[in-house]
Amino acid sequence: MQTDFTPEQLGDNQLNRANEILRSCVHCGFCNATCPTYQVTGDELDGPRGRIYLMRDLLQSGDNEERATQHLDRCLTCRACETTCPSGVQYGELAEIARNTLGERRKGYTGWVRDLLAWMVPEAGRLRRMARLGRWFRWMMPAPLAAQVPKRIGRGVSNRGEHERCVVLLNGCAQQVVTPQTNVHLAELLDQHGIATVVAAEETCCGGFDLHLGDEQKALERIRRNVDALLPLVGRAEAIVSTASGCGVTLKDYGRLLADDPTYARRAARIAAKVKDVSEYLDQADLNLEASQAGKRIAWHAPCTLQHGQQLPDGVASLLRGLGYELVSVSDAHLCCGAAGTYAVLQHDMSQTLRTRKLDALTADSPDLIASANVGCQAHLAEATRVPVVHWIELLK
Ligand code: SF4
Ligand code: SF4
Repeated sequence: MQTDFTPEQLGDNQLNRANEILRSCVHCGFCNATCPTYQVTGDELDGPRGRIYLMRDLLQSGDNEERATQHLDRCLTCRACETTCPSGVQYGELAEIARNTLGERRKGYTGWVRDLLAWMVPEAGRLRRMARLGRWFRWMMPAPLAAQVPKRIGRGVSNRGEHERCVVLLNGCAQQVVTPQTNVHLAELLDQHGIATVVAAEETCCGGFDLHLGDEQKALERIRRNVDALLPLVGRAEAIVSTASGCGVTLKDYGRLLADDPTYARRAARIAAKVKDVSEYLDQADLNLEASQAGKRIAWHAPCTLQHGQQLPDGVASLLRGLGYELVSVSDAHLCCGAAGTYAVLQHDMSQTLRTRKLDALTADSPDLIASANVGCQAHLAEATRVPVVHWIELLK
């Protein structure tokens, strides 16, 4: 794609990077075929190629800010387009730069809801308190917010087990409140198999939430805090793991995100190099795992942050099959379920449409359980189906 940034603009690291990404796009449009929002609206500007044009105009000359905001807000950042793109266009990184440009200009109701979510969700203690309040006041909340009040409210795990082998586990923010059983189950499982779990008391949100909302500075603050908290623990750990693929994809990106920070660049890269999705870790850990719910038929939903973000489309499915589970066939498995961080609140209608389509695909072959790998997908899907939705870790013993 042709671009026309000025030399002054190209002196800015972010615009320079945006220019590189934009120029790698040959506007072939293959990516539109796998974009969930393009499939729903059929509007070129709700597909990756159209959004890339909008981002170019926005970053280059500030043009079409309103249209860019509207269509970028409707983008899930699912990164299915990256998986499809034959030219290797780093759409997610480009969207991050564009959102960062738009981030501070939000006003009105949407701006207020974004500020509320940014204040509440990444702080687990605050989220827990607000979730308790939310139970009392759910009746008076707008439907998109009321739907987010969790049914149970939990806490993160502490250090568990005393073994020579150990992993560092990130509790996460929303995950420890909304689906606490996932990490409890993982810590027990590892303990039974002779691996200790260590957690960093000072950990905070991975930074993914703020990045999603276009607040890079806040995200980088959190990332530096996590680097400081995790670094003293990684020495003897076999890996840093997260059971939320949304956190995992951000943790793996710490090196890139802090590459320009002279104090933190090397430390962040060291953390990122140690991060593994829990499926990658278990695949290499040489444990005698068994199925905890043998005989159940499973519909597997790979979160976008796992299959597109981390490019791990098949690991969990083959692990579950290896334990004897039958995985039912699911059509359009590359498509997002509509959870996507804050998307279910901020783009409620599109989110519901995508969830209905996803649940139709997941339940078409009458599974006993739906399994996923991210707190957001789990909670979002569970709210609209009678089929139990679990984290796949809970299927192991
Ligand atoms: S598939 Fe890649 S190169 Fe083609 S339009 Fe989409 S982003 Fe650009
Ligand atoms: S990230 Fe997802 S929703 Fe956004 S343009 Fe790419 S495929 Fe479409």
